[in-house]
Formats: sequence, C-alpha cells, structure tokens
Amino acid sequence: MSQPKPPALLFIISGPAGCGKTTLCDRMLEETPMLKRVVTSTTRPPREGETDKVDYYFFEESTFRKKVAAGDFYEYAEVHSRFYGTLKSEIDHKLADGVDLLLNIDVQGAAAFRKCAAEEPRLRDRVITIFLMPPDHGELERRLRGRGSDPEPDILLRLKTAKEEMAQYGDYDYCLVSGDRESDFKRLQAIYTAERMRVRSETKTV
Ligand code: 5GP
Repeated sequence: MSQPKPPALLFIISGPAGCGKTTLCDRMLEETPMLKRVVTSTTRPPREGETDKVDYYFFEESTFRKKVAAGDFYEYAEVHSRFYGTLKSEIDHKLADGVDLLLNIDVQGAAAFRKCAAEEPRLRDRVITIFLMPPDHGELERRLRGRGSDPEPDILLRLKTAKEEMAQYGDYDYCLVSGDRESDFKRLQAIYTAERMRVRSETKTV
C-alpha cells in the first residue's frame, strides 16, 4: 500500500542563551538533510563570524518596525533589549513545499507559535516544541562565560532571563535536559525520527 506524503513539520527549539542550542541545531541541520533552518531576524549587531541572511537577517530597528507594521512576522519579541522575529516568508512556502523546518526561538516566540498552531489550519498539528534545559544554573553560567563573546551586563541579563524561561518548560512537547553534545544530539534525532513516524490527526478517520 502506498502511503500519502506526510505533511512537513515545524520543530521549535527554545532554551536559555548559552545552553548549547545553536551548536545542537547546527549539528542537527548538518546531519539531517531533510531538515532546513528557519533564519530569523534581529536588531542586535552580528557577533564575530555571523553572516547576514545565514545566521540572522540583521535589520536596523526602523526596518524591523516597518516589517512589524506590515504584518510580515508570525511573531516577534523583545529579548535582552533587542528585537527578534520570525518572518512568515521564511516558513509558509517551505512548509507548503514539504520541507521540515527547525526554528530556534525564545519562550515568548514558542508560545506565540503554539497559539498560531491552534488557530491557523496551515500550522495545525505540525508544530513540535522542544525545550533544551541546562543541567543546572552553575553549568549554564559556566557555558555563558565560556562563550567569551558577551559583555558582563549581557551575561547577567541572560542569567536572569534563563531562570524565567526555565520555569516554562512544562508548556513544551519535549524537555531535553542537556548532557554532553553527543547525547543531546542523539536525543534530538530520536524526537525527530519519532515525530516523522507519528500518524497525525489530519490523516486519521476517527
Ligand atoms: P542570540 O542573540 O543569542 O542569538 O539569541 C537570543 C535569543 O533570541 C535566543 O533565545 C533565541 O532563541 C531567540 N530568538 C532568535 N530568533 C528569534 C525570533 O525570531 N523570535 C523570538 N521570539 N526569539 C528569537
């Protein structure tokens, strides 16, 4: 019996800054050809090694605000005193073309997508949310400082935000407590594989 093509899925991963999300997402994308990255937008300046349109769309605040007014974003949020947002154009065409997507956004963004998924037929039953939880607060601080790229006030702000974010893990479909890089990757792969096999409500007859 031939199977209908399963709908494309949108995997959302959140977790405090410094918990290894970017490294984990980069590896997942590298080793999963079916999965493509959603490039989000920000008004923060690029970090060393970051490239416009690859790591983020780096916008001036005035440009960002114009796009907000034009309704170009699925969601946007102020994170660490900068704006971040997910352009609809980065999601809709790709999902319609059957491409699975990986989106790395904060807890406010994930909550906005959960709401959209309940309301918008094109996202219904396609959004899977994963919270990457640092093993403990001390380890998170060590990882944030080890990154060496952020000034001290930013690190303190990120630690404060982390506490608030961690309190929201219960709203996610999965909570992945971060261990070493290998085990984080294997467990994220397991989630992807299982979700790809899950029979979704739109194909069920009862
Ligand atoms: P960073 O400045 O370290 O790259 O990212 C800071 C935070 O912003 C991270 O938690 C990241 O997941 C989040 N973020 C990145 N893009 C977006 C977005 O489009 N929307 C929201 N809500 N958060 C985002």
